[in-house]
Amino acid sequence: MHETIFDKIVRREVPAEIVYEDDETLAFLDIAPSNPGHVLVIPKKNVRNVLDADKDTWMSVMETVRTIAPGVMKAVGATGINVISNAEESSGQVVFHLHVHLIPRFENDGHKLFVNKKYEEDEMSVVAEKIRTELAS
Ligand code: 5GP
Repeated sequence: MHETIFDKIVRREVPAEIVYEDDETLAFLDIAPSNPGHVLVIPKKNVRNVLDADKDTWMSVMETVRTIAPGVMKAVGATGINVISNAEESSGQVVFHLHVHLIPRFENDGHKLFVNKKYEEDEMSVVAEKIRTELAS
């Protein structure tokens, strides 16, 4: 089992601004926020990321996201919120304990999250077929 700083936060060995807790999950402020009120929702269980998560663990994290997102937004006066979970290094995951970022958003806050690319001719249908084949196997 790979220990991370988030396990230490769960065990209260490292301080964190905890904003919500239930039996399965914990929510606390990100130490380097993308915007004020940036919250991380984690399972207390040691799980690497969504690719490694059992259904109950993932569902408990998602339920906490659903429960707290409106309050997080209201508390900081946000008009929107991004719900993002990075999985593995190439996606930007740095802490290898499943977490979902709740990033409050404001009009004209300067964020641009994703670039939009174009498919080459026929590429889109080829990619879709590959995914359908993979999911059917
Ligand atoms: P990732 O890039 O893995 O999706 O995001 C990890 C997040 O954890 C980062 O946004 C980072 O600021 C946050 N983080 C890393 N270490 C700590 C810590 O010790 N305490 C808190 N509250 N957040 C942390």
